[in-house]
Amino acid sequence: MDSPFAPAPRRPDAILGDVAAGRRISAGDAHRLLADGDLLELGRAAHEVRDRLNDRAVATYNVDRNINYTNICVYKCRFCAFYRPPGHEEGYLVPFEEIGRKVEETLALNGTGVLLQGGVNPDLPLAYYVDLVTFLRENYPAIHRHCFSPPEIKFIARKERMSFFDVIATLKQAGLMSIPGGGAEILSDRIRKEVQAYPKASPEEWIDVMRQAHANGLKTTATMMFGMGEDLAARVEHLQRIRDLQDETSGFTAFIAWTFQHENTDMPEVPETFAHEYLKTVAVARLFLDNVTHLQSSWVTQGKKIGQAALAFGADDMGSIMIEENVVSAAGAHYTMTQDEMEHLVRAAGYEPKQRTNLYERFVTREETAPLAARYRHALTPELRDRASALLPVVARGEVVPRHPDASRGGAARG
Ligand code: SF4
Repeated sequence: MDSPFAPAPRRPDAILGDVAAGRRISAGDAHRLLADGDLLELGRAAHEVRDRLNDRAVATYNVDRNINYTNICVYKCRFCAFYRPPGHEEGYLVPFEEIGRKVEETLALNGTGVLLQGGVNPDLPLAYYVDLVTFLRENYPAIHRHCFSPPEIKFIARKERMSFFDVIATLKQAGLMSIPGGGAEILSDRIRKEVQAYPKASPEEWIDVMRQAHANGLKTTATMMFGMGEDLAARVEHLQRIRDLQDETSGFTAFIAWTFQHENTDMPEVPETFAHEYLKTVAVARLFLDNVTHLQSSWVTQGKKIGQAALAFGADDMGSIMIEENVVSAAGAHYTMTQDEMEHLVRAAGYEPKQRTNLYERFVTREETAPLAARYRHALTPELRDRASALLPVVARGEVVPRHPDASRGGAARG
C-alpha cells in the first residue's frame, strides 16, 4: 500500500479548490502542494485561511524572553550548536538570581512572559524545576511561565520514575502555565534517527508529552524545524501528527515552523533553506493545519524581511521580539528586533500591530505593561535600554525607579 504521505494524484488547483470550499486536505494533498504548488497561489490560498481564522486587520506579536537556564545536555542532536556535554568547561547553569534579573529586564521592556528551556541536564531532579517555577511565581507573579519542552519533561519523568502526566501536574502546581513546542524538529522516526534526535524523544513521546500537558489543562505550542535534508514526506508526516493531536485535544495555540541553521553544528554540509521554500512550507502548513488558529512567522531564522513577508503567506503573528535567544544564534542566526521595529514591520505589511498575551487570549496595552516596566527600570543594561526605545516614557526620561522590595526574595542560587 502507498504511504499516506506520498503525493496525492491530484492537481494543485483541484486541492486549492477544496481549501477554498472549506474542505480539509489530506497529507498526500499537502505533499502535492509542497512539490508542485505555485508559491503565489499557495500564498493567496493560505492568506484566505488566515483571514478566516483571525482578525484580518491585525497582526500580533508578543514580548518575551528565551532563558536557556542550562546548556548542559546528555544528548547529541547533530543539528544542535547549543549544547555542551556534562563536565565540559563551557557548560553552565544559570543561578536563580540571574534568572530573576533577566525576568526584570523583560518586564522593563513591556514583556509579559518568559520561555525557559535548556539542554537536558542529567543532574537536575524534579525538585530543581519545581523550585525554579516557584521562584518565578512567587517573585514575578505577573510574568507568564512557558517552560520545559517535551524532551526535558520526558527526561524528568524517566529520572523520577513518574508519568508525563504527573510530572506536568507537579510543575503546574508550582506555577507552570504552558509548555513550549521545542524539540519536535521533524516528527518522523527515520529522520530523528538520522539526526540523533530520536533518543531525546521519539515522535510518539513528543506527542504524548503534549497530550498529557493538554490533559492537565495546559496549552502548548507546536513547532517544526525543517531543512535538515529530510524529504517532503517527512514534513507532511510531521504536520499530520500535529493535526491529529489537535483534533483530539485542541491544546495547541500556535504552529511555528523555522529552518535549520547549520553553523557550528555537526551537519555543515546541509545547504541553507531559502525564502521560497520557507514561505511555501508556511503556506502549506496554514492550509493543512485547519484546526490550529495561529501561525507564527519566523523572523528569527529568516530575517525581518522574510519574516514580514510570511504575513502574506498564512502567518498571523510575528512571534516574540526575542530579548534574548541563544539556541539558533549559536547556529548562526543573529537577528534582533525592538518593539518599535516590530510594530513598523507589521504596519508596513498592512496590518495594525497588536501586542498579545502569551496564550493569545487578548491584546496587551502599553498602559497595562507600563507600571511593571517602570518598577523594573533599574534592571536594564544600557543595551537593553536602547531597545526599550521611546515606547516607555519613564525609560525615555532615564528615571531611576527604586528596586521593588520583593525582587530579591527567595532566590537561592544554584550550581
Ligand atoms: S537540541 Fe536540545 S536535546 Fe538536542 S543536543 Fe541540543 S540541547 Fe540537547
